[in-house]
Amino acid sequence: MLFTKKDVILPSKFQANVSLKKFTTFKIGGKAKYLICIKSFQDALSALRFANNHQLPFTVIGKGSNILLDSKGYNGLIILNRIDHLMIDKSKITVGAGYRYPHLACKTLQKNLSGLEFAINIPATVGGAIFMNAGANGYETCTYLDEVTFLSNDLKLLTLKKDQLNFAYRKSPFQSMQGIILEAKFSLKALENSKRIQKELVNYRLQTQPTKSFSIGCVFQNPSKEVSAGYLIEKCNLKKIRIGEAYVSEKHANFIINENNASSDDVINLINFIRKVVKEKTGQTLKSEIRYIPYG
Ligand SMILES: Cc1cc2nc3c(=O)[nH]c(=O)nc-3n(C[C@H](O)[C@H](O)[C@H](O)COP(=O)(O)OP(=O)(O)OC[C@H]3O[C@@H](n4cnc5c(N)ncnc54)[C@H](O)[C@@H]3O)c2cc1C
Repeated sequence: MLFTKKDVILPSKFQANVSLKKFTTFKIGGKAKYLICIKSFQDALSALRFANNHQLPFTVIGKGSNILLDSKGYNGLIILNRIDHLMIDKSKITVGAGYRYPHLACKTLQKNLSGLEFAINIPATVGGAIFMNAGANGYETCTYLDEVTFLSNDLKLLTLKKDQLNFAYRKSPFQSMQGIILEAKFSLKALENSKRIQKELVNYRLQTQPTKSFSIGCVFQNPSKEVSAGYLIEKCNLKKIRIGEAYVSEKHANFIINENNASSDDVINLINFIRKVVKEKTGQTLKSEIRYIPYG
């Protein structure tokens, strides 16, 4: 889909007709009508003003590691979040929402601070991790979170304390709010053996997940603590099953891989097929944990 510039005069920092493939780990997606890469709170304000003035839908992208963008593109404004300041004061962390989550895991570890070891394996930004309440190995992003600074689409700057926010498994209140997570504060704890914990988590991950392929991590939520989605998919013999250029990983059945040129439709059709077969064979209903961003 090619967008024409027509009547909108683009302020500096905004771009038109930008291919989005490279901004997601899946390497799937058409062109955005408009895109801005934000590096400060002021940029975030400009982005939302632009979207409001032109009555455009907007979507924030962090590292794009949980997003399936439509191959037709996005008929609105993509806000690429690269607000990446970091301050560490004893056990208190203040971090921009565009800061890379694995880097935060390393930086805090260097200070012998524990609580975010698991983040080493999650190729996210801090904002995306909060939005999804990302977690692994029994740890969750919300656990050591203190507060979040959020810019709402009506341009209000909000400071939200953790006790005002309801988090659950892969759920955060931001999923039903319109705006941009700008910054977060965490309180960690001192622990000497964090390095060992992190090393074990990385090794386990390398053995069990196809980390080098184009994917967006686990596609389905685990139905319960006892039964994983990957186990059910494997039990239904769906490993390696494919539609177009999208297929189920042989290494981890809850991963869908883009072989090279998969379309969003390939992925959606494969997701629907897996859900249908698993429902028929096991009676379990699989719920997708990825964020599909339609054309508009
Ligand atoms: C190899 C691999 C391994 C993974 N392992 C894990 C894992 O162990 N555990 C886990 O939970 N997930 C995992 N994931 C999934 C993914 O990394 C997480 O869901 C992560 O939280 C997404 O962060 P992101 O910055 O990439 O967000 P994106 O994918 O860019 O966005 C995800 C959603 O958050 C919104 N969003 C992002 N940033 C902001 C912001 N600043 N303000 C408002 N909204 C925002 C987006 O609009 C979108 O709806 C994995 C993915 C991959 C590819």
